[in-house]
Amino acid sequence: MGIIENRNHIWNEIQAACDKKNRSAKGVNLIAVTKYVSNETTKEAVLAGVEHIGENRVEGLLSKKEFLEEASVKWHFIGTLQTRKVKDIIQHVDYIHSLDRISLAKEIQKRAEKPISCFVQVNIAEEDSKHGLGVKEVLPFVDKLKDYDRIKVAGLMTMAPFTDDESLIRSVFSTLKQLQLEIQKKELAYAPCTELSMGMSNDYVIAVEEGATFIRIGTNLVGKEF
Ligand SMILES: *Cc1c(COP(=O)(O)O)cnc(C)c1O
Repeated sequence: MGIIENRNHIWNEIQAACDKKNRSAKGVNLIAVTKYVSNETTKEAVLAGVEHIGENRVEGLLSKKEFLEEASVKWHFIGTLQTRKVKDIIQHVDYIHSLDRISLAKEIQKRAEKPISCFVQVNIAEEDSKHGLGVKEVLPFVDKLKDYDRIKVAGLMTMAPFTDDESLIRSVFSTLKQLQLEIQKKELAYAPCTELSMGMSNDYVIAVEEGATFIRIGTNLVGKEF
C-alpha cells in the first residue's frame, strides 16, 4: 500500500476509536515517524497531507528539514536527546518528546531562544530498555520545571511495552492519562499538560481509546526502507 492508503486507513481507525469513546478525532494529531525512510519518502508523506514529522535522531531531523525546505510541517524530536546535541536541534524543532532529566532541561533553557513545547517522558512499565521517569518521579519533576521559562510542559509521553497483552498496554496508557489529570489539576501556567503522546504502529488504536492526542506512527504509515 502507498502512503495515502496507509494514512486513510489509520484515520479510519482513529475515527472508529474516537467514536467508541465519544471523543472528536479533531483532538488527535498524527505524527509520521520517518526514521526508517529517506528524505524523498518523507516528502511523499508531506505531499500526502502529513502535518507532523517525528525523528529520533538529530542528524535525521536536520537532513529532512533541509530537504523539505519551505514545507509547513511541525517537527517533533521523539528520541533520546543527548545534552550536547541540544544546541544543534533546538532552533529546528517545535516539540521535544523526551524530556526526562533536569540536566536536559538546563541545556534547553540555556540554548532556546523561545519557549519550547516539551513532553515529559514516562517509563510507566519501568522497563530497563527504555528511558523516562518512573511514575512517582513525574510530579516532583514537573514541579522543578517551574524555574525553566524556556520549557512549556505541553504534555506527557510514553512507549508501551512491545507485547500482545492488550490489557497491559491499555493500563500503561491509562496510567499516563491519570498522571496528566493530576498535573492539570495543579493549573500551572508553565505546564498546561493538555497533550498525551502515546501510540505507535502496533498499539495506536488502544492509545486513542485511552486519550492520546499525538500518535507516532512509522512502519504502518511511511513503511520501512532501512
Ligand atoms: C520508532 C518510533 C516510533 C514509531 O514506531 P513504529 O512502530 O514504526 O510505528 C514511535 N515513537 C518512538 C519514540 C519511536 O522511536
